Amino acid sequence: MKLSIVGCGYVGTVTGVCFADLGHDITFYDLDEKKLALLGAGKAPIFEPSLEELIRRNQHRFTTTSDLTGAVHDTDLTFVCVGTPSQEDGSIDLSYVLSACSAIGKTLKNLPDFHPVIIKSTVFPGSTGGSICSVLEKKSDKKAYVDFGLGSNPEFLREGTAVPDFCTPDRIVLGADDERTMGALRSLYTPFECPKIETAIRTAEMIKYASNAFLATKISFANEIGNLAKKLGIDSEKVFEGVGLDRRIGPAFFGTGIGFGGSCFPKDVRALIAGAKDYDEHLRILPAVLQVNEGQPLVVVRLLQKYLPDLRGRKIGVLGLAFKPDTDDVRESRAIPIIRQVLDAGAEVIAYDPLAMENFASLFSEITYAPSAEAVLSAEAVLITTAWEEFEHLDYHGTIVIDGRRVAAASRDARVYEGVCW
Ligand code: NAD
Repeated sequence: MKLSIVGCGYVGTVTGVCFADLGHDITFYDLDEKKLALLGAGKAPIFEPSLEELIRRNQHRFTTTSDLTGAVHDTDLTFVCVGTPSQEDGSIDLSYVLSACSAIGKTLKNLPDFHPVIIKSTVFPGSTGGSICSVLEKKSDKKAYVDFGLGSNPEFLREGTAVPDFCTPDRIVLGADDERTMGALRSLYTPFECPKIETAIRTAEMIKYASNAFLATKISFANEIGNLAKKLGIDSEKVFEGVGLDRRIGPAFFGTGIGFGGSCFPKDVRALIAGAKDYDEHLRILPAVLQVNEGQPLVVVRLLQKYLPDLRGRKIGVLGLAFKPDTDDVRESRAIPIIRQVLDAGAEVIAYDPLAMENFASLFSEITYAPSAEAVLSAEAVLITTAWEEFEHLDYHGTIVIDGRRVAAASRDARVYEGVCW
């Protein structure tokens, strides 16, 4: 098939390049000319392991364009992969999706063929069939589900493992309210051997939110038990090894520490809470999930102050700025509230991350960025905030180490080694 991808960030780029690898012809469109230029030059506009190699291998199967009409008219189906960040009140900011769909709607106006528009962005249940559908109909002067198709195909990839996640997912969710769109999605995903759920658009949208909310809940649950376990002198890792062996529960997402960050979990949980209020549903578990998560980074600073009560003028090292290893993404990274607190307490910060320092520098100009992880060890104490593999093998000799991510070997030779939940 010929596919156009609107929005070339983490999801759009990976989706397009992986579909190209399956033999489809892809046209990438984004408002950010820099991202298009990088893709056009065979480079990844975002960091993701093995992505650049896949781009190089499939460059003959994709083009980049700033002409959206050309992109939509020359392809059989359009994926919308633009961002859906949080607004102040926690609800999602649909403006990027609506603006993209407004532009897509205009291109549909003079298109004689039926063209499915598939929302891959994470949107609150009811958005695709509601305001997104309205803007497409208004701008195209056509009827959704009849003159053009509309569907939801939420994405479950994780940054850092996005390519294998996309290529071998646990399941694929296809949401469509018209048979032609469902048919197009079904045929596109035929080569994937995992279970596929075919359902209504708003159910597909809810599956995505419920999945992320459940995973976030699992992490906060583990952290709450982990905080208590630490006070009781119990190692939470062993606890959750035992808990996770129960097949009804499963072992994943029980890592205790400084909590979850990133561009999805916090914002999706907030969006579910905020959106539910519009339906007079006041969710009770999920606000607590966020509350626990907000408290975890503070534990690191509390532990640090156990050894250095007055942080004024102290040099504190931070290892890890990305929200997780193998990504350059710093959105809602747990390093942010930790560094803010340490700075507010009057300390200097020297930080290192193998990939995310450039992105982090746009948030914090007042810290020193070290050329290597070793250079951070000159600090009086070191906080480990991202589980990068290279932090496992450092010589922490004589240092105070507060480990938020269980980079276990850090304990070797450290003057002090403390973990958040162990
Ligand atoms: P991103 O910020 O990396 O990329 C979004 C891209 O959209 C940017 O390149 C931006 O320039 C472009 N864009 C914005 N408005 C546009 C417009 N009107 N026309 C064309 N391009 C436009 O975002 P992302 O992380 O790829 O996330 C995209 C969506 O997928 C979000 O809804 C997110 O919740 C969801 N999602 C993300 C992940 C993830 O791990 N990042 C995983 C699953 C789902």
